[in-house]
Amino acid sequence: MIRVTENLTAVRRQLESAAESASRQPETVTLVAVSKRHPASAIAAAASAGQVHFGENYVSEGVAKIRELGRSGFVWHYIGAIQSNKTRDIAAHFDWVHTIDRLKIAARLSAQRPADQAPLNVCIQVNIDNEPQKAGVSLEAIGPLAGEIDALPHLRLRGLMCLPAAHADTARTRTAFARMREAMITIQHDFSSVDTLSMGMSGDMDLAIREGSTMIRVGTAIFGPRDSVEPGGGVP
Ligand SMILES: *Cc1c(COP(=O)(O)O)cnc(C)c1O
Repeated sequence: MIRVTENLTAVRRQLESAAESASRQPETVTLVAVSKRHPASAIAAAASAGQVHFGENYVSEGVAKIRELGRSGFVWHYIGAIQSNKTRDIAAHFDWVHTIDRLKIAARLSAQRPADQAPLNVCIQVNIDNEPQKAGVSLEAIGPLAGEIDALPHLRLRGLMCLPAAHADTARTRTAFARMREAMITIQHDFSSVDTLSMGMSGDMDLAIREGSTMIRVGTAIFGPRDSVEPGGGVP
C-alpha cells in the first residue's frame, strides 16, 4: 500500500523548499497530483489530505473517476494526448486542459463546452526541445495559436505547458524551462488571461520551480510507480 498522505506531505515540503530557495512564495506554485493508472481510492486518500488538483491522461479512465468522485472539491486537469473524437467528454468533465496544440481541437472543445459551465481553462503544449515524436507547437507557433484560442468563447487561455526531453544533463532541462518562461512572458503582453506555466514532474520539479513554473504535475512521487506508460501518452 503506497503511503499517499506521507508522500503528499513530502512533495509539498519539497515544493516549499524549492520555492523558498528561488525566493518565491510557495502559494504561487499549484501542485497537480497526476493520478493516471491509479484508482479512485488513491485520489480519495489524497483528497482527504487536502489535495484539490488532479491530473489524468486517459479520457475514459479520467471521466470514470470524475463520475465516481464528483466535481465539487476537486479541480480536474486533462494532461494527455487529445483525439478529436474525445473532445466532447473532455469538455464536459474537466476544468483544465494542458495539451492543446492545434486550433481544430481547441475549436471543438470550445463548441462542446456545456453552456452552464465556466470556460474551460487551457494551456498550449510547447514541444520545447523540438522532439519529432512529441506533441506540442514550436516556440514560433505559440503566438498565432494563442490568438486563435483567445477568440474562442468557451475557452480561457491560461498559459503554456511542456514536457522537456529526458536530458541526462540538468543544465539542458533548465534552459528548456527558461525558454518556456520567456515565451510565457511574451504572450502575457498580448493576453491578460495568461498566468500559468505548467512544467515540472516528479524528477524535475525543483528545477522547474526555480525557472518560474506555476503548476507542477507530479505523479510517481505521490502515488508510487505505475505500469510503463510514457509521460504525455494518453487517449483511450
Ligand atoms: C505522467 C505525467 C506526469 C507525471 O509524471 P511523474 O514523473 O510520475 O511525476 C506529468 N505530466 C504529464 C503530461 C504526464 O503524462
